[in-house]
Amino acid sequence: MHKNIQGIGMTSQRTRDRLIERLRKEGIGNERVLEVMRTTPRHIFIDEALASRAYEDTALPIGQGQTISQPFIVARMTEVMLDQGVPDFVLEVGTGSGYQSAILSRLVPKVYTVERISGLLTKARECHRVMGLRNVYTKHSDGSWGWPGHAPYPAIMVTAAPEQVPESLLEQLAIGGRMVIPVGSVSGAQLLKLITRTNAGFEEQTLDAVRFVPLLDGAIR
Ligand code: SAH
Repeated sequence: MHKNIQGIGMTSQRTRDRLIERLRKEGIGNERVLEVMRTTPRHIFIDEALASRAYEDTALPIGQGQTISQPFIVARMTEVMLDQGVPDFVLEVGTGSGYQSAILSRLVPKVYTVERISGLLTKARECHRVMGLRNVYTKHSDGSWGWPGHAPYPAIMVTAAPEQVPESLLEQLAIGGRMVIPVGSVSGAQLLKLITRTNAGFEEQTLDAVRFVPLLDGAIR
């Protein structure tokens, strides 16, 4: 794996700065999110052969049919999550490359993240180690069931799309908590939703049309 955090050429700081300007133009306004994305190397989460494309605003393959999310989507979901203040901890479902959890770990005190493919989790953990992140806790399991041990969560971010919001994740959302989740079928339209839990129940807001890999059942190697 390509583990030069500094980066050169197409992975240099100048290239990263250009991506941030683009995110800003596309409407990302949270300066803390932009600063963390500016200073987090995305290329280390991607195979060396694709690393030169790490600072394009596009999703890229990470193996096993999965992708690292597009930077705009990472920024957008993070911004929405932090909109009412910084939660004490967050549950991410779908660790994938580990990039989104790395971004979250620099903004939120503790990150719990669950991935169903152990091969991806191994690589993600290595990236977190190289970056020196000590507040990301990972688990190999089907994240549709959440991570009951640390529930209820003030924030939940789901980075793979179910056709319906899993009941367990709703149950594990704290009152006053926020869940950002893409919902819909892989072939059809998916919509990014913000679900807020109140004393009275759940409130749902539709944000953007999005395209995520599906949330699948079961944990595999
Ligand atoms: N947040 C990731 C995005 C990866 S794509 C990143 O920053 O790179 C979505 C990930 O969700 C894939 O790795 C996929 O394996 C995982 N996933 C799909 N269904 C899942 C489930 N039920 N439980 C946990 N992870 C799941």
